[in-house]
Amino acid sequence: MSTPTAQSPHPGSIKRTRSCATRLVCHRCGHHYPLEDTVFACPDCGKGLDIEYDYELAARRFEEVPRSQRPQNIWRFEELLPIVDAAAQARVGQHAGWTPLIRADRLGAELGLSNLYLKDDSTSRPSLSYKDRVVSMSVARLLEKGKEEIGCVSTGNVGTAVASMAAKAGVDAYVFYPNRLEDTKARACRALGAKVCQVEGNYDEANKRCRELALATGMDFANITLRPFYAEGAKTAAFEIVGQLEWQAPEHIITAAAGGTLSSRLHKGLGELQLLGLAETDSTRIHIAQPSGCNPIASAILAEEAEVHAVTPETAAHSLAIGAPGDGYLVIDAVLKRGGTAGFASDPEIFAGIDLLAATEGLLTEPAGGTTIAVLEKLAAAGRFDPGDTVVAIITGNGLKTLDEHPEKPWPDKIDCELDAMLEALIELKGTGSLVSEARAQLQP
Ligand SMILES: [Zn+2]
Repeated sequence: MSTPTAQSPHPGSIKRTRSCATRLVCHRCGHHYPLEDTVFACPDCGKGLDIEYDYELAARRFEEVPRSQRPQNIWRFEELLPIVDAAAQARVGQHAGWTPLIRADRLGAELGLSNLYLKDDSTSRPSLSYKDRVVSMSVARLLEKGKEEIGCVSTGNVGTAVASMAAKAGVDAYVFYPNRLEDTKARACRALGAKVCQVEGNYDEANKRCRELALATGMDFANITLRPFYAEGAKTAAFEIVGQLEWQAPEHIITAAAGGTLSSRLHKGLGELQLLGLAETDSTRIHIAQPSGCNPIASAILAEEAEVHAVTPETAAHSLAIGAPGDGYLVIDAVLKRGGTAGFASDPEIFAGIDLLAATEGLLTEPAGGTTIAVLEKLAAAGRFDPGDTVVAIITGNGLKTLDEHPEKPWPDKIDCELDAMLEALIELKGTGSLVSEARAQLQP
């Protein structure tokens, strides 16, 4: 079978990016479709579609532009991204991606890890979560198709990313939410000008109906009809992590999993860096973290099963409450091929993970990030990492969006604004325990 070369859907009519994307291919049966096709799931077997690239061309194009001249944003590695229309690409995500990789010495000391790093997507622009990476691709693809409306189904962060990026690109956004989510995220969508609709049903039910709505109306949905493009944005986290480590791939990457896009595309992105000869990434293990109340992927990995069995989510980590993860089978494949593992954490452990990260590294994350830290702690305690291994934990979302959902902590009485009363209060405060020790006690009872 010959592989087509990368070319424009409208040769000669647009200014092209350096994208080396060639075509859409089915994850399961291998049938392929033209890149400009509007198909988003395989008509033959129903599975999702991947995007293929001309890697020989990509390797040459990588040499053409020095790293110092590449943009410090989501498009830095555009050879390996799927957008071909340069004008569309220029309207999206110019400040997305390129989040800091933070050396986490204090958290590492707590966990016995001397080379721990945090990929801090909680500070991503514009909407403070990793979803800016994937939604950048969806909105750019929408513009490439010349459309002006975008929908999404969201547990929270996709919605705020779509609302924000649609506003900047000048397109209308429609956000559909399930019945349980962190309210601040939905309110942020409205504040950003999106039209918001909450439906009575969980995420999996809402997702199914939004798919029907997309087919009935022809409206594109960021994470349904644009999904093959959306998913490619997640690879940029892998590219950035390895680049920020001076092209020495880490021994381990751990991240929370919901639908499974990020963890499965970390695998693809790492593989592409190896293919292009940019870094040795074969030995990087990928580990995933899920809440105990919604752990279909982690359960399948630990039971060594090839497919996930859907569950009904029951967890305070609403952004991870996807019981029938579309990319679950890809995550299983990624984790097993890379010799990684999975773990899960109860709701109290998830909030203890948030506290431990906050009190050691000064980062306030949401329950998804707390899940990652709680499972990182368990895997470290179980000896899954050598003490000198480089471990990267991805912090996918910001705790300022979810603070109202965190368990209440005892709040001191208001006192008189007067020196003696304040001295007395200060002495009392000094006698209370530290957040680090409280979190550790919760994580290792
Ligand atoms: Zn197929």
